[in-house]
Amino acid sequence: MSAQNTVNRELFDQVMVPNYSPSAVIPVRGKGSRVWDQNNNEYIDFAGGIAVNCLGHCHPALVEALKTQGEKLWHLSNVMTNEPALRLAKSIVDATFADKVYFANSGAESNEAALKLARRWAIEEHGEHKSQIIAFKQGFHGRTFFTVTVGGQAAYSDGFGPKPGDIAHAEYNNLDSLKALISDNTCAVVMEPLQGEGGIISPTNEFVQGVRELCDQHNALLVFDEVQTGVGRTGDLYAYMGLNVTPDILTTAKALGGGFPIGAMITTDAIAKHLKIGTHGSTYGGNPLACAVAEAAFNEVNTSAVLSGVIAKEKIIKDGLAKINETYNVFADIRGKGLLVGAELTEQYQGKAKVFLNAAMEHGLMTLVAGANVVRFAPSLVISDAEIQDGLERFEKAVAQVVNA
Ligand SMILES: *Cc1c(COP(=O)(O)O)cnc(C)c1O
Repeated sequence: MSAQNTVNRELFDQVMVPNYSPSAVIPVRGKGSRVWDQNNNEYIDFAGGIAVNCLGHCHPALVEALKTQGEKLWHLSNVMTNEPALRLAKSIVDATFADKVYFANSGAESNEAALKLARRWAIEEHGEHKSQIIAFKQGFHGRTFFTVTVGGQAAYSDGFGPKPGDIAHAEYNNLDSLKALISDNTCAVVMEPLQGEGGIISPTNEFVQGVRELCDQHNALLVFDEVQTGVGRTGDLYAYMGLNVTPDILTTAKALGGGFPIGAMITTDAIAKHLKIGTHGSTYGGNPLACAVAEAAFNEVNTSAVLSGVIAKEKIIKDGLAKINETYNVFADIRGKGLLVGAELTEQYQGKAKVFLNAAMEHGLMTLVAGANVVRFAPSLVISDAEIQDGLERFEKAVAQVVNA
């Protein structure tokens, strides 16, 4: 039996924990914004590994960084520091509000570090009473027990026994609901500067500036979860840069490694000093291989050519979706920022985002959903205009198939 015959979708059900329900297709190879499966079917990738592959698949600069570092040094420990981690931290500090960086391996771990740091800061600077964390309904911050409890969907955190305490949820884009909860006992307000998993919801300027002011009034830290929005996704290096609001702590992961697992929590000197020696850590955090790839990805994205390209490509995708909608009338709203675009389905197609995703797959296009009612697009930041057009044509065929079914 050849490997191809034994390594198939059925094997997933035999050997994998059933928390995912992957499609029948098993991709084996990718280049730029194209992916091929076991049967050599080709797909255009508008999903980007859930907003991760910011430079597409096997970008030459990332492959080069991986190979070069792969022949030098893979792993040490935080008993020693290493050159790629130091260089990446310096690049991030130079490009952002932050003075200090903590490396983790994922978005959830970066948020876990942010939440623990916020609690430490509040206890040491203000006292034990200041422990409340306020986040937002429909927000998503990862799947560790602390981060999933901070996330705004109880369905993801229920059923695991007692939850971490003193966490409250306000409504996104509703300052009054935050005002009703916040007090001098609030340690931090945690938000995505554009809700991703929750349905591609942008904050209004008034809201995001109001959140900053309320945090200042009550001596609470503002934590921006930029795990999905960071590293060029919205057309700014970080979304906060386009909102005229600076957070106290920011987390970044997904696109940071361009497909290699890494995350980071970044903050100011004054706050960072509360994570004293021994208070937090991670075996793999700051791994040289991960940092070398991330350094290449970060520096490649942080150029005016790539960032202005994101804004130009946003328009092509949104215009293309609007045109499809003129014919088929399936979207109630087309929204998002940069290359994080959501198409919300009309009343008639409520709950059917996955049906559109599956149809797109049949026509050779990978997409995402954000909840049951929104089809999400998060392609490579350097996808070519021709590939966007090709992908839109495939999507139009998929929409036609759903509408005519
Ligand atoms: C994906 C995501 C996370 C979780 O990241 P993981 O790497 O899966 O742990 C956290 N916050 C936001 C906003 C995300 O989009």
